[in-house]
Amino acid sequence: MPIYLPKLTRRQFLGRSLMAGAGLLAGCAGHSGAGRHDANAFALFSDTHLDGNTGQVTRGVNMARNFERAAEELVSLPQKPARLFVTGDLAHNSGQAADYGTVAKLLTPVREAGLPVHLALGNHDHRDRFWQAFQELKAARRPVRDHQTSIVRTPLADWFILDSLETTLSTPGLLGQEQLAWLARSLDEHPSKPAIVLVHHNPGLEGGNMGLKDTVAFMEVLRPRRRVKAYIFGHTHNWKVQKDESGLHLVNLPPVAYVFRDGDPSGWVLAKLHSGGMRLELRSLDPNHREHGRVLELAWRA
Ligand SMILES: [Zn+2]
Repeated sequence: MPIYLPKLTRRQFLGRSLMAGAGLLAGCAGHSGAGRHDANAFALFSDTHLDGNTGQVTRGVNMARNFERAAEELVSLPQKPARLFVTGDLAHNSGQAADYGTVAKLLTPVREAGLPVHLALGNHDHRDRFWQAFQELKAARRPVRDHQTSIVRTPLADWFILDSLETTLSTPGLLGQEQLAWLARSLDEHPSKPAIVLVHHNPGLEGGNMGLKDTVAFMEVLRPRRRVKAYIFGHTHNWKVQKDESGLHLVNLPPVAYVFRDGDPSGWVLAKLHSGGMRLELRSLDPNHREHGRVLELAWRA
């Protein structure tokens, strides 16, 4: 059983639609799994903060509506990405069961459009309630005990999705020794294939204690393993792309939900891999935002 949400096939799609009635069938017909996918393109969402109440507004933002708008844009691309990754803070605040009901519901059109979905957890998630809502993920064979950790192998890179949720509603995160040891071993199995790591929490390097508590140990795994090209995270709700002194790209995704600082973009990122690196394009939910459509070319370190 896979540790991700597979795309929904035409048969599942029809079954669900019949259950939901003809109106849904008509409404979703344009989102059927048919259509072209780019095997090297990926949609990156973060900090969706979905609530059980889809009308919930926080910091002036209806999170469900933001998510729907991002998902609608994603599934209507003429060439759709191969997969969707969501780097945590799936739930609004404390990871309630109903929040994951909204997550499941709003992900359905993406899965029906033929994209498998890979979910990471953040500090506003609750692991047990998440697994109760997604029984198929709970039942999956997991490489790290009691963590939502996985590897996704794609033609040009392996994606390592890590679980940095330590305690729900406590801001910092922790990967822990077992997960770090597994990561180091797994990275060493294919030393020459590019690898990208996805984690909810940002590096906690600069004196702050709000990011990843074991950043030093994490970087000691990543930096010497030259196959690791990028560390992608959310958590700060602050779109920013940097590079550390080892040439490792540090990509801070924008939130799909609300921003913490006026003027920052909310939205998602379209990532396209090529043999020497990755092209990132910001898709702001505000098409008039100065960052909307901005493209960044990341070259891989040797
Ligand atoms: Zn968040």
